[in-house]
Amino acid sequence: MSTRLEALVIGAGISGLATAYALAKSGITVRILEAAPRPGGVIQSVKRDGYLLECGPQSFSGNGAITSICKDLGILEERVLADPKAARYVLIDGKLQAVPMGPGLLTSSFLSGGTRGAILRDLFGKSQAPEPDESVASFIRRKFSDTLLERLVGPFVSGIYAGDPETLSLRAAFPILYEAEKARGSIIRGAFAVMKQRKAAATIAPRTPREKPTLQTFRNGNETMITAIAKHLGDRLTCGVQVSSIQAVEADHEPNAVRFRIVAGGPRGEETLETERLILATPTEVSGKLLESFDAGFSAPLSAIGYSGVAVVSLGYAMKDVADPLTGFGFLVPRSSGLGILGTVWNSSLFPGRAPEGHALLTSFVGGATNPGALGKSPEDLAAQVHRELTPLLGIRKDPVFSNVTLWQRAIPQYNLGHTARIAALNNLRSRYPGLYFSGNYLSGPAIGTCVEQSLKTADEVRISFTN
Ligand SMILES: Cc1cc2nc3c(=O)[nH]c(=O)nc-3n(C[C@H](O)[C@H](O)[C@H](O)COP(=O)(O)OP(=O)(O)OC[C@H]3O[C@@H](n4cnc5c(N)ncnc54)[C@H](O)[C@@H]3O)c2cc1C
Repeated sequence: MSTRLEALVIGAGISGLATAYALAKSGITVRILEAAPRPGGVIQSVKRDGYLLECGPQSFSGNGAITSICKDLGILEERVLADPKAARYVLIDGKLQAVPMGPGLLTSSFLSGGTRGAILRDLFGKSQAPEPDESVASFIRRKFSDTLLERLVGPFVSGIYAGDPETLSLRAAFPILYEAEKARGSIIRGAFAVMKQRKAAATIAPRTPREKPTLQTFRNGNETMITAIAKHLGDRLTCGVQVSSIQAVEADHEPNAVRFRIVAGGPRGEETLETERLILATPTEVSGKLLESFDAGFSAPLSAIGYSGVAVVSLGYAMKDVADPLTGFGFLVPRSSGLGILGTVWNSSLFPGRAPEGHALLTSFVGGATNPGALGKSPEDLAAQVHRELTPLLGIRKDPVFSNVTLWQRAIPQYNLGHTARIAALNNLRSRYPGLYFSGNYLSGPAIGTCVEQSLKTADEVRISFTN
C-alpha cells in the first residue's frame, strides 16, 4: 500500500526543511524524507569538552526570511549577533593585516596605487561591459589589478565558495556585481543602483521584511534553527530513510493528480509514496541519479555542477598560550602564501559560549577547489598542519588542548563558467514536468540565508500550482 501526499520533499538540509516548513504553513499535506539519522545536512553543531563548535557553516548572514521563520518558531531571542565592526584580516607578507572597510580602503596602503586608481576610475568612469560569462579572475584583472585579485578577491572567494576565481563565473557567483557592471559600467555605482532597485521591488511586493544582513548564529549553535523546524514538522519529517527511486505515474489531466511514485528504504524496510508535487532538495549528484529513470536528460546539467571539498578543523587553545589578542572575525589567506589554510574564524571572539573560560576556539578551513588533494589527508595530519601554520601567525606557544576535524568531500557547489546556462537547461527541462521542483544551494547561492529565500520561493511556486 502506498501513501498519497500533496507534496513530498527529499532531503532535510536547510533547503528541504525551509521548503517543507513553508508548505506545511500553507496547509499543504507534506512529508520530508532524510537519508541521514539527523536533519540539517551540512549544518551540524557539536558540544564537547566545554566547546561549542560547528562542523559545517560557522555562522550566517541574517535576512528577512530567516528572521521571520525564527520569530514564528519562537527562537528569535536565541540568536546571537556578531559585532558588525569586527576586524577581518588578510595574510599579507607573512603578517595579518586588517582589511579597511568602506571608503577607508581607497586611502589605505593595503592596495597598490595602481589598484586604488582603478577603483577611482570605476567610481567615476565607465568601463566595457563584462563578457556574458567571464571568470571572476579575468574580470578583476581586466578591470582592476592582479594585486586586488591576489590580496582581496581571491581570499574572499575562498571564504564563500572555497572556489577558484579562475573558474568561478562572475555572472553566476556574484550576480549583483555582474548586473551592476553591465548596467552602469561601474561596479560601485551599479551595485548601489541594483540594490536600490531590488529594495524598491521588495517594497512593492514585500515577501519577507527586509533587514540589514548581520552575521549571526544561536546561543546553542546553528543547529537551533534545524531542531526548531524539525520539531515544528513533527512526524511529517522522517530521518534515516534513503530515497532510491522516482518513477512517473501515468497522470490523468486533473491539475492535482498524482504524478510521482517514490521508493524509500530505511530500518523499517521499504516504503512507497505517491505525490502530486515532488521537491528535490538533495545535492546535485543525488538529484541527477534519482531522476535518471524518470528522464535521463536531468543528469547532464546536474552532474556538471562540481563541488569543492573542505576540511573544517576546529582547535582549542588556552588563551595564555596565544600571544595574539584575537580581536576580530578571523583571517583569510591568499593562495600565494603557500599555506594550506584558506581562512580561520576566531569563533570565541565572535560569539559567546564557544569555548571554556580562558580558552579560545579557532576554526580553519583547508582544501577547496584550488587544493583538492588536502581532503585525502587524515584528520590527525590536518589538525597538525593547521596548528603548525597558525603557530607563527598568532604567536601560539603550546599544542591545542582540543581538536575536531570534519571532512566534507563535496562541501560547496561551484558556480563555475557555464553555471547560468546549466541552471537554465535544468529549468527548461523541468518545465516539461508539472509538479517537479528543485530547492538547494546550487540554484541562487550557497549561503544559508539565500538557501532559505530560494526555498520559500520554491514553496510559493508549489502553493500557487494548487490554485491554477
Ligand atoms: C564547510 C562549510 C562551510 C560553510 N560556511 C558557510 C557560512 O559560513 N555561511 C553560510 O551562510 N553558508 C555556509 N556554507 C553553505 C551552507 O551551509 C550550505 O550551502 C547549506 O547549508 C546547504 O543546505 P542544503 O539543504 O541545500 O544542502 P545539504 O545541507 O547538503 O542537504 C541535503 C540533504 O539531502 C540529504 N540526502 C541526500 N541524498 C538523499 C536521499 N537519497 N534521500 C533522502 N535524503 C538525501 C542529505 O543527507 C542532506 O541532509 C558552508 C558549507 C560548508 C559545507
